Amino acid sequence: MLDTSLAELPLERLFQGRIKALILDVDRTLLPRHRAELPPLMEQWLRRAQQTMRLHLFSNNPSRRRIGAVAKRLELPFTTSAGKPRRSALRKVLAELGLPPNQVAMVGDRLFTDVLAGNRLGLFTVLVKPVDPQGQPCQRDHLQRAELRLARWIGTRLDR
Ligand SMILES: [Mg+2]
Repeated sequence: MLDTSLAELPLERLFQGRIKALILDVDRTLLPRHRAELPPLMEQWLRRAQQTMRLHLFSNNPSRRRIGAVAKRLELPFTTSAGKPRRSALRKVLAELGLPPNQVAMVGDRLFTDVLAGNRLGLFTVLVKPVDPQGQPCQRDHLQRAELRLARWIGTRLDR
């Protein structure tokens, strides 16, 4: 669990944890709400990450146009209508990657879709703050705060 957006995710820390691939949520993790373009800081982060790790964009959004545009810009594979937190689409991506789950990280801004889906299959999971148009973490994210309150209430362990 990070207090930063993905653009500030410390890649080196993940390398030490033997992470070889990242499965990334798109809406509000890479793209700010109501925006179709990556903030420059986010694009820089993605380009740096893809030099050393395999990336896959993995979205519950059905829009191939919205998700595909980001994927095309970075030449990344992508999945739409992923159905998180269900596992079937994620299993398919893991099979394509050909890596054991503990070498793959799932990163997203939603606890009960992104993180839950990843945890169900034994992936390393990272909860980031939703991104704003500057690539910075959103200060007011009521949805994530509500999810975190619920998670604590049911006794979920959250590591910072
Ligand atoms: Mg999201």
